[in-house]
Amino acid sequence: MILVTGSSGRVGRAVVAALRAKGRMVRGFDLRPSGTGGDEIIGSLEDAVRLAEATHGITDILHLGAFMSWAPTDRDLMFAVNVEGTRRLLDAASAAGIRRFVFASSGEVYPENRPEFLPVTEDHPLRTTSPYGLTKLLGEEMVRFHQRASSMETVILRFSHTQDASELLDEESFFSGPRFFLRPRIRQQESLGNTAVANLLRSKDIGTPAHVLARNQNGRPFRMHITDTRDMVSGILLALDHPDAAYGTFNLGGTEPADFSELLPRMAELTDLPVVAVDFPGDGVYYHTSNERIRNTLGFEAEWTIDRMLEEAAAARQRRLIGEMRQ
Ligand code: NAD
Repeated sequence: MILVTGSSGRVGRAVVAALRAKGRMVRGFDLRPSGTGGDEIIGSLEDAVRLAEATHGITDILHLGAFMSWAPTDRDLMFAVNVEGTRRLLDAASAAGIRRFVFASSGEVYPENRPEFLPVTEDHPLRTTSPYGLTKLLGEEMVRFHQRASSMETVILRFSHTQDASELLDEESFFSGPRFFLRPRIRQQESLGNTAVANLLRSKDIGTPAHVLARNQNGRPFRMHITDTRDMVSGILLALDHPDAAYGTFNLGGTEPADFSELLPRMAELTDLPVVAVDFPGDGVYYHTSNERIRNTLGFEAEWTIDRMLEEAAAARQRRLIGEMRQ
């Protein structure tokens, strides 16, 4: 029986569905119900009693549950869930004598926004610059501790930024709304208390909804990986089953980064919205992460290019707009 934490989340839900489709026995664990049925325990990673229940009779764990937030007010909770919760889960896993433990880390452990060299490989220094990245780095350190101190096989996957294709052109979505749409970005920056950036963005508002093309202070458009959830699922299943994954650390994500100078005009064609360029203070986001190790060692292949994702995103947006008109 495989335990999947974060089983109601974007990645967890898809992993559970893929495993069940293969006839594997899966138990989900999450704060909130997935709504998909099947064996599932509702509880928090902070709750030792629930964790003991969840790990009972388990052979493998995919630890995908985490609290992702960049808001200072969420910091205590984020460390409690991502660091202390991961410690508790690792202890329970080790005590239960499970076979393999796969940990969802993040490219933010590197730092992606100020890389020392490109492409970022697994050997890049781990010098995270965000509190969220720090929770993942501490998580990795605890996994490495268990690698030395217990008999379970551990695998660290450093996740690329991950999206469902349908989120890409959705103003209301958690990541893509503020990343690609001006007004959601203003709301996000206001809620994070970044008044100066919110004011800068507001000064660019042209009176109608628009996309935002993010550039750095020198006008260089952002570049980053955006990986489809389905590619992440195939990498996670390899990490679970491939003999050569044991004790490994792998970047998991798409092969080519998305360059916003190309991406935003393509998005605008699909949405009919204008694009407003904004030069954000600082170095901005500009990285390329290598997935060579997971391709060469485990045979991973990313299949969902940004073009394929955009096709689906446009269809999903159309369905949403038709749905709204009918209401
Ligand atoms: P998600 O937010 O959609 O899913 C995370 C799930 O964890 C949610 O269902 C949430 O309810 C659950 N969770 C949060 N707090 C919990 C707690 N206290 N106890 C139990 N469950 C709790 O995120 P996702 O995109 O599916 O990401 C999956 C994993 O990948 C996470 O560990 C995340 O940190 C990591 N990751 C994601 C990205 C990305 O861009 N999506 C990038 C790098 C790493």
